[in-house]
This record gives sequence, C-alpha cells and structure tokens, in this order.
Amino acid sequence: MLAEPPRVTRSATALEPARRLGIEGELVFPVDPTGGDLVMPNGYREGTHNGIDIGNGCSPGRGRSLLACADAVVNSMEQSTRPGKYITLRDRSDTYYRYHHLAEFIEGMEVGAAVSAGQVIGLMGSTGNTNWAHVHFEVWRHSLSPNIGFPIDPLPLLQRPAGLTIGSPQCDN
Ligand SMILES: [Zn+2]
Repeated sequence: MLAEPPRVTRSATALEPARRLGIEGELVFPVDPTGGDLVMPNGYREGTHNGIDIGNGCSPGRGRSLLACADAVVNSMEQSTRPGKYITLRDRSDTYYRYHHLAEFIEGMEVGAAVSAGQVIGLMGSTGNTNWAHVHFEVWRHSLSPNIGFPIDPLPLLQRPAGLTIGSPQCDN
C-alpha cells in the first residue's frame, strides 16, 4: 500500500505528494523530447491552472508525439469545448494523468487499453480553448473528480529533458 499523501493546500508544499508517493522525478516526460526543444511557459497554479503547458520551443508543435508518462490503462478518450480532444490514463498507484488539446487520437488507443511508459498515446495539437499547439498535462490523485480526488503539481514528478525551457522561449523572428 502506498502512503496516503497529504492534500496540497499551498503551492510551497506541492513537492510533498511526489516524495511520499516515491515518484519524484520518475515519470516519463509527456512529450517526446527527441522532436526538438520544448518550452513550459505556464506552470501549475493551485486552483487556477491545475496542470502544466508544454509546447515546442519556437516552431509549430502540431503533430508532435505525446507519451504515456507511466505504465497505465487508458481511462477515457473524449472531446469537449475547453480541453478539446483529451485522453486520461490511470496507473496502479491510483494516480490519473490528463492530456488536453490533442490533434489526433492514435490508432489502437481505446478505453481500457494498457499502455507502457514512453509509448505514443496521441499527437499534440490545439483543439479546445487554445490557438497554441501544446499539451496541457495534469496529475490527479485518487480520482479526476474534484469532489473525490485532487490535482498535484506534475513538474516535480517528471524526468525533465535537457532541451526544456521553463518560461517563455527566446525565439528569433
Ligand atoms: Zn494549461
């Protein structure tokens, strides 16, 4: 049994769930790092932005591969106004992962399918309430329902690729 993490009440404590779960820095980065530099201009802000946004550094990112961050099962694949096309995964530690704004679902992905960490699960896009091709990535404990589960900051959980810029990219026009 995994120890129960505390509810995150302040961003300063956002690292604690990762440490208690023993998955700090253990998850595969949700975007394929071999496709070039990556940028994360928007981080986790509790209550206002429950995830992190990751896109290409300075070039269009549509169609870039999104990767399963852990060995997991496809929990849902849906489309709605704000997230656009999105896929959620659930792993054996009762942790859920959301990927928003997909350009495409991948052949062979379906609810209940088992996926391995690092496997391509979709393609980056800009469906939903965005014009910028990126993935909005969230991590939730216990449930994706805010009445039951709660989000945690994904960044401390991830293996960060070398080409990742946190903040706005410096691009030549
Ligand atoms: Zn976002």
